[in-house]
Amino acid sequence: MPPSKTEIADPESLVVVGSGPAGWTAAIYAARANLAPLVFEGAPSRTMVPGGQLMFTTDVENYPGFPDGVGGIDMMMDFRKQAVRFDTRVLTEDVVAVDLSARPFVLRSSEGREVRAKAVVVATGANARWLGVPGEERLARSGGGVSACAVCDGALPFFRGRTIAVVGGGDSAMEDALYMTKFAGEVLVIHRRAELRASRIMQDRAMANPAIRFLWNKTVVEVLGEEEIAGLRLRDAETGDESSLEVGGLFVAIGHTPNTAFLDGQIDLKDNGYVRLPASWRTETNVPGVFAAGDVMDDFYRQAVSAAGTGCMAALEAERFLAHG
Ligand code: NAP
Repeated sequence: MPPSKTEIADPESLVVVGSGPAGWTAAIYAARANLAPLVFEGAPSRTMVPGGQLMFTTDVENYPGFPDGVGGIDMMMDFRKQAVRFDTRVLTEDVVAVDLSARPFVLRSSEGREVRAKAVVVATGANARWLGVPGEERLARSGGGVSACAVCDGALPFFRGRTIAVVGGGDSAMEDALYMTKFAGEVLVIHRRAELRASRIMQDRAMANPAIRFLWNKTVVEVLGEEEIAGLRLRDAETGDESSLEVGGLFVAIGHTPNTAFLDGQIDLKDNGYVRLPASWRTETNVPGVFAAGDVMDDFYRQAVSAAGTGCMAALEAERFLAHG
């Protein structure tokens, strides 16, 4: 018999860590396979809430099945509801430590809880890095024209025809800048050095685009505007001089940090900190019985729909693992 809604089994069959599209999809598939998964959805903090990055996205227009778009928060609430409708139990706690050398695995939570599990899906995502300057977080949360995801938010009517700033000098910044030329009047790439980090091909594409202009050696020190972004306060990295720049949107593209610290080196990571998966089209990590899905292992696509797809894969692989060992 699967454990009742409030009970924690010892050991649990499958524990899912994380509550974005990957985590909830893994839970939905596992629950429908009668595995009665337990989900650690995470504890709310200043920079992250259960549900992951979509909780900061106003309108999701590229998730198939929603012809009129859907709010990021509504979408994640529905993912959660769908998982709970089957036999998924949810703990609003972070997993802060694991012991993956033990069998069953041991997971310790922010509330001091210890749960043992025969299989684990790690779906803790990655956090977009922010500049951490005044005005940025407030205008990002209120949908006031600041975003860390051009593919998610760039097509919104808000940005049409406006002058848009993209901060960063890597491939993400080039990609976001090129993408935004479809909607914006002009795109300004603001980089803190005079040399880009992006690959040659992405640099060439961005530089060849007449709608993109580069501002070199500039750092953003403040995002201006009350309800909506009005501009940026910039500082010259060489002279220290400050100036104001009028813009109607800001996309921060300075990289992502995968949430793998709690794994404490117990599963293989790539050089950039994302979980390494030994076999292509498989989500099992180098530790048999531990699977990884979504942005925590994906440094390439980073989309809600691809994350959900890998959540499904992880649950199906976990089901096989539990059946056959
Ligand atoms: P990234 O390569 O780490 O680049 C981050 C950029 O942001 C760097 O130019 C960095 O400046 C700048 N930056 C970092 N912190 C900053 C801060 N506090 N203030 C201002 N600027 C800051 O990250 P990414 O562009 O997200 O790319 C990550 C990986 O994904 C890369 O391997 C990339 O090739 C890959 N990717 C590939 C594609 C593609 O091929 N289409 C698209 C996106 C990403 P500095 O240069 O001065 O350090």
